[in-house]
Amino acid sequence: MELIYKSTRNPEEHATASVAILKGLANDGGLFVPDSIPALDKSLDELAKMDYRQVALNVMKLMLTDFTEEELNYCINSAYDDKFDTKEIAPLNKKSTGYFLELFHGSTIAFKDMALSILPYLLTTAAKKNNVKNDIVILTATSGDTGKAALAGFADVPGTKIIVFYPKNGVSPIQEKQMVTQTGDNTFVVGIEGNFDDAQTGVKKMFSDEAFCSLLDSKGYQFSSANSINIGRLVPQMVYYVYAYTRLIAEGEIKSGEKINVVVPTGNFGNILAAYYAKEMGVPINKFICASNENKVLYDFFDTGCYNRNREFILTSSPSMDILISSNLERLIYRIAGNDAVKNRELMEALTGKGEYVITDSMKEGLKDFYGNYATEEETAATIKKIYDTDKYIIDTHTAVAAAVYDKYKAETGDNMPAVIASTASPYKFTRSVMNAIDKEYDRKSDFELVDELCRLSGVKVPNAIEEIRTAPVRHNTVCDKEAMPDEVKKFLGI
Ligand SMILES: *Cc1c(COP(=O)(O)O)cnc(C)c1O
Repeated sequence: MELIYKSTRNPEEHATASVAILKGLANDGGLFVPDSIPALDKSLDELAKMDYRQVALNVMKLMLTDFTEEELNYCINSAYDDKFDTKEIAPLNKKSTGYFLELFHGSTIAFKDMALSILPYLLTTAAKKNNVKNDIVILTATSGDTGKAALAGFADVPGTKIIVFYPKNGVSPIQEKQMVTQTGDNTFVVGIEGNFDDAQTGVKKMFSDEAFCSLLDSKGYQFSSANSINIGRLVPQMVYYVYAYTRLIAEGEIKSGEKINVVVPTGNFGNILAAYYAKEMGVPINKFICASNENKVLYDFFDTGCYNRNREFILTSSPSMDILISSNLERLIYRIAGNDAVKNRELMEALTGKGEYVITDSMKEGLKDFYGNYATEEETAATIKKIYDTDKYIIDTHTAVAAAVYDKYKAETGDNMPAVIASTASPYKFTRSVMNAIDKEYDRKSDFELVDELCRLSGVKVPNAIEEIRTAPVRHNTVCDKEAMPDEVKKFLGI
């Protein structure tokens, strides 16, 4: 049966999965949501015998029903190959705190690789299915992780070009080096004189500039998006929750049907929403533990039912979660409003206008499977140190936010059922914050001295993503004013 995607803001707008992936956003600015979530058609015990790619096929074929199995297999096999440094793709690592689901074994060592390594194949397949003749130009604004993962995913993919804008002075040195050394003739990286919001606004303006889009079309190009509101990112993220649960069965840690908790360090709400969808598909999940850093809009929302972004934006050691407008929450709001696009649109308009909205008591009922809390900078650092001291296991700052919040959850509730903790980045990506958490003395060392020291302490081989940038030549050095972004796009495309 064909699964239809609907806009969260307009009951009339429908799309097939492939069209939703091509468009990214619905015409009215809403997000595409599946009309219903199909149940798994294999038992959890059967899935426990499969490898990552087979699990991926069994999940994705239910969600992307207008793709054939051949097409999906092509996408899955092209994405989840030796770009990942382990055959398991997403290994589950048992430690005294819980089961860390390591989602950082892809080419850019952040969990964004789990979806961005397959999105280019889904997108080019979707373009073929829908007879799109133009080349696809992916426009991305990034604060660090998405940009590099999207570049790596789209580099040298025929029929695509990718342009990434990042705030010249707003990313970490390692993140910048990763981006400006990117190879591939179809890649283009631009630093802008401005912050992340400026980059994002500039990109959105180009998307909605009709004259610019028709110029592009006349030259054989069209824009698309690789950011986390695309369902082509959400669906691949459901896979690893099914995979994690079935690994627990395979390793004899639980019996099929037994409930688990999942703990997710959250920013844009994409990763935790994928877990929520995985539960609807049939994974026995008890609580979704939503962990925030000091930008704790989500904690306050779960606590009070009021979402309020009118507050100071705090720069933390977990920058990929420094966010005040959590875009994917809209999909959950739509759901708890009873799939009511009109009601959801009202709330989202209030968020754009006044910067806040309040949900009703009956909507609040729909949130009872969620637990929200946050970790301060001190708690985050202390958690890295504690886990290093007890397990000799070194986690990154984002994962540490999750582990710290999980400790609070257990202390408050006494609930000790098995927990999967989404481990979203390699500690090598945030070396300085991680090493300083273990010992402040490390702050005197250079970035690459710290890399070697981290290797010595953890016994984990330095990932390729880091080795590469020690010596890789800089290939992108364009810097522009935020007003000049469209000119840079034209220059790169030669139009
Ligand atoms: C993007 C990111 C997150 C937040 O994920 P969301 O899906 O936006 O909630 C957490 N940790 C890391 C390392 C990330 O790159």
